Amino acid sequence: MEPFEQTKLQAGDGCYITALLLKKWTENVPGLTAGYTTRQGGVSEAPYDSMNMALHVNDDPKHVMRNRELLASAVGLPFDSYTCAEQVHSNHVHIVNLTDRGKGRSLREDAIQDADALVTKEEGLLLNSFYADCVPLLFVDPVQRVIGLAHAGWKGTVLGIAMKTVERMKESFGSDPNTILAAIGPSISSCCYEVDERVIAPVKELLSAHSISEEGILKPSQQGRAMLNLREINRELLLKAGILASHIECTTWCTSCHSELFFSHRRDGGKTGRMASWIGWKKG
Ligand SMILES: [Zn+2]
Repeated sequence: MEPFEQTKLQAGDGCYITALLLKKWTENVPGLTAGYTTRQGGVSEAPYDSMNMALHVNDDPKHVMRNRELLASAVGLPFDSYTCAEQVHSNHVHIVNLTDRGKGRSLREDAIQDADALVTKEEGLLLNSFYADCVPLLFVDPVQRVIGLAHAGWKGTVLGIAMKTVERMKESFGSDPNTILAAIGPSISSCCYEVDERVIAPVKELLSAHSISEEGILKPSQQGRAMLNLREINRELLLKAGILASHIECTTWCTSCHSELFFSHRRDGGKTGRMASWIGWKKG
């Protein structure tokens, strides 16, 4: 069953946003909020219509701020708690503490720099990262009460950000991979994601380094190109990191196939908005 359930959430002033909620988690882990926004319910104008969450795509910053405010309100965390990083397609993991609270909320310059994964144990932080095709990874360790998210485009995937995030949860907070739950969210699926040698070569190298079969991941298309299943690579890497298969939720949503719900960098020719994945502990 699709783990990311399309849900209308009431935000402030009687507005509604449409989000994809990880209900399987939030109904079972007290205090957790986690999910993925869609493009519906915000105030941005075309081509960012309407729920663009990112400041780096030349949208009106006032609109982005309003959209972020709507998300915070819809999930029941204060807008002050909205915290994000300047993503750089790396495998760097940043441990977020209370001094980071609010970083990147209104200015890119004060965002957490040079990080594509955020991990925390602190309550009252609304962690966000931004997407228009790349793979969002979400993590929760309900035992140590650790949460995290990671942005895995093909570069971050090949750099092993999935495994790196699990390692940091272990090192910094003593998380046991056996108890960590992971979710792989909406992103471009293999139906719409044809890649060339520039991507195929490093992907093959990664798969071979980890003894992962190409089957179901790379499907040759034409003239040295292939259809790539980035979500499946990340699922395999999470398994290698010690996460149980039964603890990994994987979406079927393709960002490129559903233009009414999602921005897609590839489909929209680069000029488009960004969805956000979010995770946070509400204060108990
Ligand atoms: Zn598709």
